[in-house]
Amino acid sequence: TWAAVPAGPPDPILGVTEAFKADKDPRKINLGVGAYRDENGKPYVLNSVKKAEQIIESSQPDKEYLPITGLAEFTKAAVKLAYGGESAPIAGNSVAVTQAISGTGALRIGGAFLGRFYPHTKTIYLPTPSWGNHTPIFRDSGLEVKQYRYFDKKTVGLDFAGLKDDLKSMPEKSIVLFHACAHNPTGVDPTPKQWKEISDLVKEKQLFPFFDMAYQGFASGDFTRDAFAVRHFVSEGHQVVLSQSFAKNMGLYGERVGAFSLITADPEEKARVESQLKIVVRPMYSNPPLHGARIAATILNKPELYQEWEGEVKHMANRIISMRDRLYDNLVAQGTPGEWGHIKSQIGMFSFTGLTQPQTKTLAEKAHIYLTADGRISMAGLNAHNIDYFSESVSKVVKG
Ligand code: PMP
Repeated sequence: TWAAVPAGPPDPILGVTEAFKADKDPRKINLGVGAYRDENGKPYVLNSVKKAEQIIESSQPDKEYLPITGLAEFTKAAVKLAYGGESAPIAGNSVAVTQAISGTGALRIGGAFLGRFYPHTKTIYLPTPSWGNHTPIFRDSGLEVKQYRYFDKKTVGLDFAGLKDDLKSMPEKSIVLFHACAHNPTGVDPTPKQWKEISDLVKEKQLFPFFDMAYQGFASGDFTRDAFAVRHFVSEGHQVVLSQSFAKNMGLYGERVGAFSLITADPEEKARVESQLKIVVRPMYSNPPLHGARIAATILNKPELYQEWEGEVKHMANRIISMRDRLYDNLVAQGTPGEWGHIKSQIGMFSFTGLTQPQTKTLAEKAHIYLTADGRISMAGLNAHNIDYFSESVSKVVKG
């Protein structure tokens, strides 16, 4: 029956982890995986999460199904975190929302909903490059995927002129995906001033903004600052749609906690849209998982826990920023050819180093250091124990 099924290509990121696992050298470093690691390179469960789990456990909750759109205490708090409690759509009760299977599930629901109901086009534009899963997510949810310019290899920064030109030449009312903060894989974000220009252009061309926010708080350590783009667009009257993930900022990766929301015109429209979100979700997975949503709801709604969480998010963000500083200082001190300022100016979990594919290959073979072939490194994989070894190895490979 399956004789004609061809073998699919391995996942480019998970393949890096496979190679890392097979390496027996004690100096080995895995910079492929997009998950936070602590000062000792170990996965990190937040204290606020552990405390929330104890609170949940002691209330001896049942395991009944959640409603189709999930745990209301979670989704309400999630959209408040994103848009701000005082924002017009939250105050006016016009945000339609459903819990989702983390950010990926939120994007998929969004793709399916737009595919079914967005009246103007079935095409979504993604930045080049974008998170590798964006294209298959939107393609499989029935949209056509196209690109707009984003990253400039020459400056290892934003191609702002190219971005603006591409927005200007899109057909009116096209759907455009933006990374709300900490662009993956490049770590390059528009400045607030550039976001304002983008918002103006989006308005002029009546484009439809789809925000993917997988790193709120994780980028700068400040939830409000990381939500700047989304909140600015909303304050300018854009009816955005938004995917949220709590994988990184709460460290809830495998618990799959996320939300998909849409700004609607009023509470009546919101109710209609939510009724259709249910019809999208029901045949996909019926209703979302319980445990992670309970954890997130507990943290978001209990002021002491929220405060502790904020501190932990700041700690993770600051540890990553300090690794950027050390890596930059080391590379410069070792006289590494090239300009390395982007290591410090890039934002979030990842850095696009500018290392070439042959250089990444040499790093794996000679130094037991594993990263994706595009030269992206997860900053969270670096720590006080391995940063010097890593910098020396990069310096060596760049000097050739
Ligand atoms: N969007 C972006 C840009 C991401 O980097 C990620 C995580 N790698 C996601 C969405 C979704 O991840 P998850 O499904 O684990 O929340």
